[in-house]
Amino acid sequence: ALPNQPAGELKCVENPEIIEKEVDILLVGGGMANCGAAFEIKKWADDNTSILLVDKAALERSGAVAQGLSAINTYIGDNKVDDYVRMVRNDLMGIVREDLIFNLGRHVDDSVHLFEEWGLPIWKKDAENKNLDGKKGLKIGLLKDGAKPVRTGKWQIMINGESYKRIVAEAAKKALGEENILERVFIVELLRDKNDPTRIAGAVGFSTRENKVYYIKCNTMLVACGGAVNIYQPRSVGEGKGRAWYPVWNAGSTYTMALRAGAELSMMENRFTPARFKDGYGPVGAWFLLFKAHLENSLGENYAASQDAKDELAKYAPYGTAPITPTCLRNHLLMNEVRNGRGPIMMVTSKALQKLGETMDKKELKHLEAEAWEDFLDMTCGQANLWCATNTEPEKKDSEILPTEPYLLGSHSGCCGIWVSGPNEDWVPEDYKWGDNGVIYNQMTTVKGLFTAADGIGCSGHKFSSGSHAEGRIAAKMMVKWVKNHADYKPEPEMTPQEAADLVWKPVKTWFAHKDYSTDKDVNPKFCKPAGMTMRLMKATNEYGGGVGSYYCLNQSSLETLMELFQMMHEDCEHLAAGDLHELMRCWEIFHRIYTVEAHTRHIMFRKETRFPGFYYRTDFMGQDDENWFCFVNSTYNKETKEWSMKKVPYHRIIPM
Ligand code: FAD
Repeated sequence: ALPNQPAGELKCVENPEIIEKEVDILLVGGGMANCGAAFEIKKWADDNTSILLVDKAALERSGAVAQGLSAINTYIGDNKVDDYVRMVRNDLMGIVREDLIFNLGRHVDDSVHLFEEWGLPIWKKDAENKNLDGKKGLKIGLLKDGAKPVRTGKWQIMINGESYKRIVAEAAKKALGEENILERVFIVELLRDKNDPTRIAGAVGFSTRENKVYYIKCNTMLVACGGAVNIYQPRSVGEGKGRAWYPVWNAGSTYTMALRAGAELSMMENRFTPARFKDGYGPVGAWFLLFKAHLENSLGENYAASQDAKDELAKYAPYGTAPITPTCLRNHLLMNEVRNGRGPIMMVTSKALQKLGETMDKKELKHLEAEAWEDFLDMTCGQANLWCATNTEPEKKDSEILPTEPYLLGSHSGCCGIWVSGPNEDWVPEDYKWGDNGVIYNQMTTVKGLFTAADGIGCSGHKFSSGSHAEGRIAAKMMVKWVKNHADYKPEPEMTPQEAADLVWKPVKTWFAHKDYSTDKDVNPKFCKPAGMTMRLMKATNEYGGGVGSYYCLNQSSLETLMELFQMMHEDCEHLAAGDLHELMRCWEIFHRIYTVEAHTRHIMFRKETRFPGFYYRTDFMGQDDENWFCFVNSTYNKETKEWSMKKVPYHRIIPM
């Protein structure tokens, strides 16, 4: 076995050890956001401030950047922050929090400069070596000193990023101190203050390696556990199911834990349905932007450049007619081709490489081909394996592109998440900023003392890895301020340590109570296992919630059916059973997934238009309806009454069109 990895899954004991901790600041999750927070926080906190970071996995390879990345997608550089806001706004079909995006835009480059300082190789233009598009660039140097990065698009820069997460995690660990980090601890539920249910007071979770429950009190908390994957049936089957576009570990914990603590969610109707290389889920950005490849339908047409495509996009003006077509509308055009029998859609890698080869000598071309492979090896090595397995030489053989199953996230090309306060600036509208005792706390949710970042923040996508890190750093500073302003606070969580442990360990107790009732470890009339529940959830959302099974289509009737199925899943989740720690984690993952995708479904039901064609279609309300729906949709959940409430929230424009 590898260090820290048992040869088999560790069986649960009936009564776990309860470890109690109390800290000023609790960081939940160990991804880009919390690595940013961990790095930043000690600069502002005094020596008496106690901080703890808890990650479900191991910091060095956890979260969406686990496999590495080949590009940093947000680097402002010479661009204007206002234009960054305009780009994000247009890509997300007009409805975004401009204050949050502007604030991120003016801070994000600092995180990129730090990555470079910590050793992340960033591609630069060189006086001798040409940039790949043939143009001569500036001399190599540090980005912050004015050196020019190799840009694939206006906002993206290329990196050699296989070890990106390790580099960022190392800096986080060094800054925070390893003694302040708990790895392989899954947080299950956030605990509110028993005297003030609108305030955060702690969290409870368990070790995925030892029979231990962690009960942690805190003054303030940053919850940033990424987005949600495996809430819809993946296209892959059998063993391949473990391969999805999004990292399989992020199970909607951010949204579920926050909503159950009473935090207001926003734009949960938004989803991201990426079009990617079929089966391997390889990234397409470098192929489009760096190698200038295009897509062709089965008739060999560059359909996206056709007049029909222009006419279709014009229906979604002003977003569809903007110089850069929004991601969902690009998907929409692709889906139209497939729906009309003109699939499969191919990424024409062969012509792209041949064309680039016209201006290059043999050595340069070999280098370019190597880059094409490295693009996958840096971040999605499964795609490179698939190319090998299918004899795909991209310079000779094109590859199919297909929209994947939907994912929920707030930092990539999606914007679902939690409603947070904007920065304390005069230009931020009054209803977009709030705090406590007259002090505004940027990135605080509507629960006092509970902050979020990155995939957690709604209405402001396109932050990507660098922006997520920067938002973690912003939250860190705010939390230190919170602790200073609430120095007298003594957390009294709504549950005692034993009550919280009983909640976490319930699936284990169920297993012990009934395990001998059946001869099969998974089939038992007295309980259900998380694997079965996961299949149930995926089947339901796939068929009724606009997954690939219904070609991303849904309507009031299918959504009502889905809501009824969710209700039954909630009831049956009371009977989930876990015989080992891995299964216990799976139980809580499916619990988090169900709430998250229920929030998504409720929001889609509420918004009676198709704002994001290409991500999903409300077939009973096709087309965007700016007259009635140019607004945010926000929701809250009451865990005592199990009631949801939904509302429209007005949009305030800050940056002119
Ligand atoms: P993550 O970095 O995903 O971290 C989530 C953390 O929460 C993990 O450490 C996880 O272990 C932990 N966690 C989850 N649940 C729990 C729980 N219950 N208890 C405790 N811990 C928990 N950005 C770019 O700049 N360039 C790219 O090319 C790029 N490509 C991408 C490709 C893919 C497939 C994806 C998914 C993202 C990509 N991004 C890219 C975006 C970038 O990776 C994300 O924006 C960023 O990682 C989000 O940061 P986060 O902290 O919200 O989540």
